Amino acid sequence: MQVRCQRCGYMFTLSREAVAAALEEVERTQAKHYAVDCPKCRHQIKVPVKDIRRFRPRQEAETTTE
Ligand SMILES: [Zn+2]
Repeated sequence: MQVRCQRCGYMFTLSREAVAAALEEVERTQAKHYAVDCPKCRHQIKVPVKDIRRFRPRQEAETTTE
């Protein structure tokens, strides 16, 4: 998925593996955002969990509502 730095405008791609890891983490911590560091300026970018979910690989996408 594409992530854009709010500070410097740099766009980069999170790999599928990174997205999967991010989802795992936010589901464990119940976070609303996942923080990634901009590779260019090191600014911390908060990616909304709902954006991450849209990129989740197909597998029981909507069954984890607790
Ligand atoms: Zn940046």
